[in-house]
Amino acid sequence: SERILADDQEHVFRGWARQVGASSLAVVGAEGCWFWDHDGNRYLDFASQQVNMNLGHQHPRLVAAIREQAGRLCMVAPQFAVDVRGELARMIAERAPGDLDKVFFTNGGAEAVEHAVRMARLHTGRHKVLSCYRSYHGATAGALTLTGDPRRWPNEPGIPGVVHFFGPYPYRSPFHATDERQECERALAHLVEVVQLEGPGTVAAVLVETVVGTNGVLLPPDGYLAGLREICDQHGILLVCDEVMAGFGRVGEWFAVDAWGVTPDLIAFAKGVNSGYVPLGGVVVSRRVAGTFADRAYPGGLTYSGHPLACAAGVASIEVFEEDGVLDHVRRMGSEVVAPSLRAMADRHPSVGDVRGRGLMWALELVRDRGTREPLVPFNASGPAAEPMARVAAACRAEGVWPFVHMNRLHVVPPLVIREAELRRGLAAVDVALDVADS
Ligand code: PMP
Repeated sequence: SERILADDQEHVFRGWARQVGASSLAVVGAEGCWFWDHDGNRYLDFASQQVNMNLGHQHPRLVAAIREQAGRLCMVAPQFAVDVRGELARMIAERAPGDLDKVFFTNGGAEAVEHAVRMARLHTGRHKVLSCYRSYHGATAGALTLTGDPRRWPNEPGIPGVVHFFGPYPYRSPFHATDERQECERALAHLVEVVQLEGPGTVAAVLVETVVGTNGVLLPPDGYLAGLREICDQHGILLVCDEVMAGFGRVGEWFAVDAWGVTPDLIAFAKGVNSGYVPLGGVVVSRRVAGTFADRAYPGGLTYSGHPLACAAGVASIEVFEEDGVLDHVRRMGSEVVAPSLRAMADRHPSVGDVRGRGLMWALELVRDRGTREPLVPFNASGPAAEPMARVAAACRAEGVWPFVHMNRLHVVPPLVIREAELRRGLAAVDVALDVADS
């Protein structure tokens, strides 16, 4: 363990990952919803690593598919046709909403968002992109500029043409709304105003996370996404949904937009498409937008676009989802286990300000005071100011459960294949950790 950690500390250059408390852990193995370190400590992975291991660790079907593909054909450049790439693109297109039926493959989420935005700009001939505060879109220059949280700041000025607006957040309404319906109406009115002030003829795209992930599992109120669709259609703006985290089963649907019955023009995906066994992401593109590039090539490409090993894992992953009824399982675990359990915790623990989520994507928002809703730690706190949340996370880990913690929130985002008993065990650890938050 010491040797592993010595090499790591000497030579691995980390960004934000340094801050999440895992760098003193030498991970040597994993299976299903569990991973363990060199010293034999086992953790229930309640974070799915970075909310990507939807089918859990070392799934035998995915491992076998990668092995089989590696034995046959490891790599062939994107200009050639190869069976698994086409097969995965077809499988994704068949499950995507509306007329979204072409797939541009990338190596991850940030690239997917960047390409979606570039396609929107080229399709519309406009340059501005409206993106939400309290969003995360990735760590490349463009994706970070589009990001609406403090991680953007050190990267500024970033790329030109990005304008941030407020999305709905009923618990801390930026519009001083008193209920979800009002929040939805006011959020849409706000966007209409932003579009008018920016100039509708300059706006290429409105970019939203269908369900805001890292920034707090913010679900769109009913009618919000449909409202966005309408505003976009009125002004010839494209609607781009980032489903890097929310897609591929996380909320119990292939694509999260399906839960609200809305079809965007472009959907960015990654993570859950193959659980990250081999890096993969992409953009599902509508026929209309893809048509723009029918007689002039889309000016972009990646050496590893649709890497055969990644695609083989993707095909196997979709097969497992289907054969094992994963989407049904997610819906059932969410509504029958997680929702009642977290709501009961909210009744018992005064530190729980809000509970929200869907499928297996949930957040507890922790507060010092329920009345004033003062967060348990200040916005963007670090060091000693962030200690109360660090103690909550440490309490989970002491119970053998690896949590996802961000600012003043604890997210419940386990692998989608988690068994009910494991899920209850993880939730029991959260319950114990909330005692720490209460005190
Ligand atoms: N968009 C969203 C919604 C994400 O959650 C993430 C990753 N957390 C990204 C984009 C960036 O993905 P990647 O880290 O694969 O570039």
